[in-house]
Amino acid sequence: MSFGSAAARRGRRPPPAVPCPCGSGHTFSACCGPVLEGASAPSPEALMRSRFTAFALGDLAHLQSSWHPTTRPQSLALDDASEWRRLDVIRTHQEGTRGTVEFRAHWRDPASGATGELHEVSRFRQFSGRWFYVDGEIE
Ligand SMILES: [Zn+2]
Repeated sequence: MSFGSAAARRGRRPPPAVPCPCGSGHTFSACCGPVLEGASAPSPEALMRSRFTAFALGDLAHLQSSWHPTTRPQSLALDDASEWRRLDVIRTHQEGTRGTVEFRAHWRDPASGATGELHEVSRFRQFSGRWFYVDGEIE
């Protein structure tokens, strides 16, 4: 264990003023940045966006801490082969402490140039004022 490995678990960080990797049109510091630093996501969509950005930046720590403890994998590895390039949020629904977000996440394999998308409906639940990712169904 070293500071180096702890920093690697938190992934890369873009400059605060660049457009957020989730594609919201806001800057990183006005969008997913604070959630990746531990702020509570205000909605299921905001948590979904922060998790996409965490995939794009390689932030394993945020992926794990935002995953509900009952469904969180024992260990998590990121597929280095894929670049997560764009997120399209199709539909969001929130009722009380439950929420769903339907999205398409677009990826590219830099080695082969192959591209594809993940189309999923993710489920979220709120506990003690914080949203967590529970699970998802691939469409
Ligand atoms: Zn964002």
